[in-house]
Amino acid sequence: MRIYNFSAGPAALPQEVLERASKELVEYGSAGMSVMEMSHRSKSYEDIHKAATDLLRELMNIPANYKVLFLQGGASQQFAMIPMNLSKNGKADFVITGEWATRAYKEASRVLNANIAASSEDKKFACIPEITKVSADADYFHICSNNTICGTRFTEFPDTGSVPLVADMSSGILSEVFDVQKFGLIYAGAQKNIGPAGVTVVIIREDLLENENAKKLPAFMQYKTHADAGSMYNTPPTYSIYMAKLCFEWLKSKGGVAGIQKINEAKAKILYDFLDESSLFKGIADKSHRSLMNIPFTTGDEAKDKQFVKEAAVAGFENLGGHRLVGGLRASIYNAMPTEGVQALVDFMKKFQG
Ligand SMILES: *Cc1c(COP(=O)(O)O)cnc(C)c1O
Repeated sequence: MRIYNFSAGPAALPQEVLERASKELVEYGSAGMSVMEMSHRSKSYEDIHKAATDLLRELMNIPANYKVLFLQGGASQQFAMIPMNLSKNGKADFVITGEWATRAYKEASRVLNANIAASSEDKKFACIPEITKVSADADYFHICSNNTICGTRFTEFPDTGSVPLVADMSSGILSEVFDVQKFGLIYAGAQKNIGPAGVTVVIIREDLLENENAKKLPAFMQYKTHADAGSMYNTPPTYSIYMAKLCFEWLKSKGGVAGIQKINEAKAKILYDFLDESSLFKGIADKSHRSLMNIPFTTGDEAKDKQFVKEAAVAGFENLGGHRLVGGLRASIYNAMPTEGVQALVDFMKKFQG
């Protein structure tokens, strides 16, 4: 029996996608082999690769002057690749909104002069800080659009003028409509809202591929290498890309990103409304910047939180413990989490609360 999996990542995948993959696992179409066994240069795989790219372009309405790359190494590799590839003046701005934003800042600090433009650390990352200035000489301005651990999200994006806005969208991509044109570069590890782990999506504006400094990097570390090769410079993570394609098709069947956004808003509201009136559980993020995808909460009592995680697991609700850095509780409700799963969780919380 499948349980409701509230993991922050790798996270639940749509059941329909898993069923389809299982049907095609041993023999894909008339290929006589599984997708995992195909040459990445074969026609069968090339069709999958192209379909995945085209579907993501369609779902996110990605303009023609942006490249879509399927890379490896997770969002963590992007923390390093971005400063290496975008550095011209050797300076970048960072908004510190939690653990992942901090890691992006620390990795970039090894490569260039990383400047903190704003931070909500003094508020324990419970909100998104106000952004009052952008360094005009910065090579890019980095944000983490949805903070997986603290459960906050940017509800509007800063206007950075001619400085490219770069966003870690690992836990927010495809959850609501974003205007890609506002960004110079968007990146996301797949294992939250795209598909299984193993592939990392990078959406980059073409002019950012032309940087003399980047040409000195090892070829593999340059975005341009992967862009010119259509993400086939070396063997791509073929099965993860195939799974992402199935997830994109599933998302399209749900009315695309605009369709899932409506569902996500209603779904998150079920849990937030309950937290706002509960006599036992309290939400952690400020109301003004609440995430639609990751909802941290607590009873305020560590032992009681632990008891809740245990009893919830017995009742079929897995992975409700908060991130190991912050403790407490957290429900991650990405696109694949059905509304019924959130409703069932709230019903269980009501019973637990007594
Ligand atoms: C999970 C996560 C990461 C780390 O991703 P890896 O693929 O493990 O490197 C980075 N940023 C955000 C916002 C995340 O949610």
